[in-house]
Amino acid sequence: MTSASMLRNKTSGHRGSSDNGKSEESDGEWDFNWCDVGWLRENFDHAYMEEHVRINHFRNHYELTRKNLMVKNLKRFQKNLEKDMGRTEASKCDFFPSTFAMPSEYHLFVEEFNRNPGSTWIMKPVAKSQGKGIFLFRKLKDIIDWKKDRSRSEEQKDAAHLDSYVVQRYIENPYLINGRKFDLRVYVLVTSYVPLKVWLYRDGFARFSSSRFSLSTIDDKYMHLTNVSVQKTAPDYDPEKGCKWQMQQLRRYLTAKYGREVVETLFGEMDNIIIRSLQSVQKVIINDKHCFELYGYDILLDHDLKPWLIEVNASPSHTPSSQEDYEMKYGLLEDTLNVVDMEGRLTGQEKRVGGFDLMWNDGPVYTEDLNLQTFGSLCFTANTHLGEPCIHSSSMDRGWYIGHERIIPSKLDPPMSSQPGVSRPCITIKVTEMLQADKPNTAKKPVLIRPPSPRTSLPKEKDCQHFLSCEPTPKPIIRQRSRSLPSPSEKKRRKRRNAGVRFVDSLGLDLEDVRLFKSGEDPFVPHHVTFRLLMGAEMADGRHLEISLPYLKPVFAQQPGDQPDFLHRLYQQKVCLEKIQCFELGIVGITQVVNLHFEKDVRVRYSFTEWKGYTETKASWVSTITKTLEKQQFSCDAFRFHLPVPPFLQPGSVLEFAIKYKVCGTEHWDNNNGENYKLVCHNYKLTVPKECEESILHFI
Ligand code: ADP
Repeated sequence: MTSASMLRNKTSGHRGSSDNGKSEESDGEWDFNWCDVGWLRENFDHAYMEEHVRINHFRNHYELTRKNLMVKNLKRFQKNLEKDMGRTEASKCDFFPSTFAMPSEYHLFVEEFNRNPGSTWIMKPVAKSQGKGIFLFRKLKDIIDWKKDRSRSEEQKDAAHLDSYVVQRYIENPYLINGRKFDLRVYVLVTSYVPLKVWLYRDGFARFSSSRFSLSTIDDKYMHLTNVSVQKTAPDYDPEKGCKWQMQQLRRYLTAKYGREVVETLFGEMDNIIIRSLQSVQKVIINDKHCFELYGYDILLDHDLKPWLIEVNASPSHTPSSQEDYEMKYGLLEDTLNVVDMEGRLTGQEKRVGGFDLMWNDGPVYTEDLNLQTFGSLCFTANTHLGEPCIHSSSMDRGWYIGHERIIPSKLDPPMSSQPGVSRPCITIKVTEMLQADKPNTAKKPVLIRPPSPRTSLPKEKDCQHFLSCEPTPKPIIRQRSRSLPSPSEKKRRKRRNAGVRFVDSLGLDLEDVRLFKSGEDPFVPHHVTFRLLMGAEMADGRHLEISLPYLKPVFAQQPGDQPDFLHRLYQQKVCLEKIQCFELGIVGITQVVNLHFEKDVRVRYSFTEWKGYTETKASWVSTITKTLEKQQFSCDAFRFHLPVPPFLQPGSVLEFAIKYKVCGTEHWDNNNGENYKLVCHNYKLTVPKECEESILHFI
């Protein structure tokens, strides 16, 4: 955790707190308040906030950001989960080290301590940051003395100060890179608790200790505490090199070492930490439409690449330690402002804004990937991209951006001229100065947050729609293609003008390279091409066209889920196909898997060529339900998958598939008791009415 007083003077210069505790106006109204938690404590309850006003903390943010309260809420959440959904579900919250509030839970701690002789513990003040007041110990005697001293001094203080430390199991086997310990800083933006709306930032970093890790000494803070504020004071600290890796760098390193799947599992577990920790306080945080919060999650990886939640910071440091770090933090703040969207530019449907991906919107958010390799089947994956490339606004230019699209050039501070038809105000917030507010010598400088001014240089409505899109900009080739597709009237005109033969691909683009075959040569033309050529020719003749379309029919008579031994098989195999439905365009299947862990990977392996070649497609989660088998309850997840029916499939062709469920590093298969699930291709005839001509893609 870092300085909570980061931007205090910026906001207090704007609307500060006087000695008598009442808030005073120093600069008229404010619209956006990037305040520190101290300001919030003193002023929030007295502040009147208009509808459009935004402030960067929730009133009782400390339920998550105080070390003791975070653990208290997590423990309660886990207990309730166990009661309602069973041990397996509750075990998904096993991501925080055993922690006790001191001195109130001292006796519980002693019991735990005695159960683990020789283990290392870490004592941390609950409301301090930057590694201040932290120490490690292995002997009870060390803290008995410490406790005695403290109790004596606490007698004079009020009861609120009593629970001011936590003692926590020290992670003794941290994951090391080059012998050094590190922890991760992940940025999470919550814009609402009811419903819970969470954005995960792609960038973040790993903070390394400057000394090689060893358990032989426990009082070297440079070895055991990875806070940048601690490491910066190390005698051998090199300000040029710093002690950080960007998240992308770490992701690349781990992927090169362990492969993509391992890394995806790890990052998926981090998603789990974020969501469950937020859910643990969802009912206690006072939701307020004026509030949002940018949290800094501290996560430590152990030797088995298991992530542990160390703490959540309400005021993550914005002090840059290098140019790269500056750019990252600049982008982070700018993208935060874009998500908070004071000017109402977003549609509310965005899944990505700058470097932020919407990971939770009252439920998990998925990305739909169109998988061209599997003939257009859809894959659903979690919409989280931590450590993936992040193009944020600051790396392009200063101003408002959504995705890659620039919204308004705030760098130029647009002149305050009103424009007819513009109703939303433009608010200028200088991110550079927000960043600098972290530095002690600039802390007194007030933040330049201006009252709303009429928005200028607003893009025309048509452009505006384009700007609001958060989809990545289409690749040049796709742009070129979409531009080159003729409109129906243009098509007619071209037809009249151009009576010759035109060679185009299925998108209407002229083919650049056309090969001529001499007579006698027998070029291979794929079946689906001749099929479409034929269709086109018949259409051109003005005849009604009869086409035959393939469809796949299951070889098994009954849906597996309707068979009496289904639950038995599911329990034994851990994965079992429940049902499939066949359509002209593809097959949709539902499979059940036994809920063994939060992170699951369910894939369907299929082949049209008797396994001479095969493809895999990922199934996507649909729901979790509890099933009962012989009076015993177990939790299951339903996953959905899509398999394609290629249009050129010959009657009699067979599609075979089996389902793979990967969980906790183990693979479970449902291959229909060794037979695989089989479907056979049939054809049915369809007469295409003449009017459908326009909707069919022509090759000529
Ligand atoms: P602060 O708020 O003072 O930064 P933290 O809880 O973040 O306190 O702890 C500071 C540092 O101490 C962390 O960055 C991490 O390197 C180390 N640390 C904290 N708790 C643990 C733990 N349980 N096991 C191992 N290291 C820890």
